[in-house]
Amino acid sequence: MACSCHGKAQITRKVRVGRFFIGGDSPVSVQSMCNTDTRDVKATVDQIRRLEDAGCEIIRVAVPDMQAAEALGRIRSAISIPLVADIHFDWRLAVEAVRQGVDKVRINPGNIGDKDKVREVVKACKASGVPIRIGVNAGSLKALKDDPKPRWKPYDWARQMVKEALEEVRALERLDFRDIVVSLKADDIERTLMANTLFSSKSDVPLHLGVTEAGSFLAGTVKSSLGIGLLLSQGIGDTVRVSLTEDPVMQVRAAYEILKALGLRRYGPDLISCPTCGRCQVDVGGVIHRLEDRIYSDRVLLKKSEGMKIAVMGCIVNGPGEARSADFGVAGGKGRGVWMENGKQIKVVKEREWVNEIVRKIRASR
Ligand code: SF4
Repeated sequence: MACSCHGKAQITRKVRVGRFFIGGDSPVSVQSMCNTDTRDVKATVDQIRRLEDAGCEIIRVAVPDMQAAEALGRIRSAISIPLVADIHFDWRLAVEAVRQGVDKVRINPGNIGDKDKVREVVKACKASGVPIRIGVNAGSLKALKDDPKPRWKPYDWARQMVKEALEEVRALERLDFRDIVVSLKADDIERTLMANTLFSSKSDVPLHLGVTEAGSFLAGTVKSSLGIGLLLSQGIGDTVRVSLTEDPVMQVRAAYEILKALGLRRYGPDLISCPTCGRCQVDVGGVIHRLEDRIYSDRVLLKKSEGMKIAVMGCIVNGPGEARSADFGVAGGKGRGVWMENGKQIKVVKEREWVNEIVRKIRASR
């Protein structure tokens, strides 16, 4: 991507993935990965459709065997976002995935085997215009085969990750293949930052960002926000995937919140709610959760609410003041609340109707 905050341009090459582009002047895209069994086409398609509704732009599925590879065509034809096949060890799975019509292949050439096998994968991808992501993870570096527990400092890890990634990039480029994306992931922020910063100073290949195995929802979101956010704030990174031990829909939402906080993408409304205190006599948390569930699972609501400021406040002490600064909102009383629009009190709405009323208001907007 181009770095706007530091004024220096770091333009990466542009790579097409289905109907999206990664790199160059393209917006930073949001990816996720299914946690269903890819051989179960129905479960996988159902999950991808939920992810599409939440705004996921590129979806990856694991391809552990030939049965999974052969299911890819049926999955691809039932969804509308680009499909990425995640492949390890067996080059034949990558070739079959391309034959099935996937939009991108993620491999680690280091574990695909000898040059002839990598050449076969490249040949298939080139013939179909399918890009390849080279995924380098700190825990599976080639150098670890000789020394599984090296006494490296974080920068040594980062240097080794970049060295191996560049070797793979050059190997593909020697085969006249340039539609490449690279990821350099570690399970800590320090190595992730160092590796991606170093790589971006040496190559124009676009970067897929992520902190691998980031953890539970809270810990993983904090870790990913820092790791991904710090890189993006320096203009480094072209597509993101937040790894969480969670429903992949939450990964998509977390990714967008990072991009939204950095001003790189718009995504749904700006929901303002109070933390509640002893004065509160309505269930603000319940209302916000139900509201988020409605908005973030509905493409139309997501789009229409983009940039809207909506307030849900617990009481009339600070409530009307905050609700007044929003486009619209509600400030609670006992089982009901004052509905405000552009600073004016409009009506009183029963608490159980707040979510429906807000959704109606979003739907009615242009
Ligand atoms: S808006 Fe009211 S209920 Fe909410 S934190 Fe402030 S004083 Fe407490």
